[in-house]
Amino acid sequence: MPFIELQSHSTVSDGQLAPAGVVEEAAEAGVEVLALTDHDAVAGVPEAEEAARGLGVKLVPAIEMSCVHEYAEDLHICGYWVDLEKIGPACERAQRERRERAGEIVENLRREGFDLTLDDAIREAGAADSIGRPHIAKAAGASGDLGPFFEEYLVPGAKAFVPRRWPSAAQAIELIRAAGGVAVIAHPYWDISAPAEVEDLIRSLGADGVETFYPSHSKEQTAHLLALCEELDLVPTGSSDYHGPTHKTFAEFGAYETYGLGEPQLPARP
Ligand code: AMP
Ligand code: MN
Repeated sequence: MPFIELQSHSTVSDGQLAPAGVVEEAAEAGVEVLALTDHDAVAGVPEAEEAARGLGVKLVPAIEMSCVHEYAEDLHICGYWVDLEKIGPACERAQRERRERAGEIVENLRREGFDLTLDDAIREAGAADSIGRPHIAKAAGASGDLGPFFEEYLVPGAKAFVPRRWPSAAQAIELIRAAGGVAVIAHPYWDISAPAEVEDLIRSLGADGVETFYPSHSKEQTAHLLALCEELDLVPTGSSDYHGPTHKTFAEFGAYETYGLGEPQLPARP
């Protein structure tokens, strides 16, 4: 079985390394099949493809789309084998709405007493096409482990949270398929904790796969997702969600457990 990593992030969204740097780290770790899945952005894929060619890594063009669903105000759907041109307009809309949402979150944080502006957050985002909550948290003064700041201010229900409005999970799947891609529900147990809701989400969405093998998934959760994949004929994928060498939570490849239950698969190109 090849060493598969189907989710990773670069400076095009909230990762620490440039796209080529992500591929170099992956190759160093022995990864054979890699997807760069920046949040709502594909601008890093050509650079990653070029680096992958030189290093003998198979690079799958991909994206991770943020979306909303009744069970999760912040659900992620990965799209593999997407045509970069065709997914472009969806990226542009999502990136524009991210900037608008960042402005609203910054306003909420200012009301909570933080001294920051949207420009500070944009500066923190640097070269990123997709501004995200980690950039806002850092602009507000959080550092190191952003978890406590997220829990207090930035997750659904927290003091400064602003929900995303578009796309719905069903729309994200449609957008990915319209761009020639395969839609995979990312790390369902990261966003939702109730097994019945995870199961209903997977049964009702009609995606092509489920990210089954993931660092925070327990053996029971992994077994549950794998059983659903088998029953519904979905592709079980896997990743360590690499965000860079000093990221607090996602700093190494090969960090997901298979628990001896199975192996992640790469969805076939449509
Ligand atoms: P956004 O793109 O604004 O939805 O932010 C998504 C990013 O926020 C993810 O890539 C994670 O790195 C980070 N994130 C989400 N939830 C948490 C959390 N509870 N603690 C720390 N970081 C988080
Ligand atoms: Mn994700």
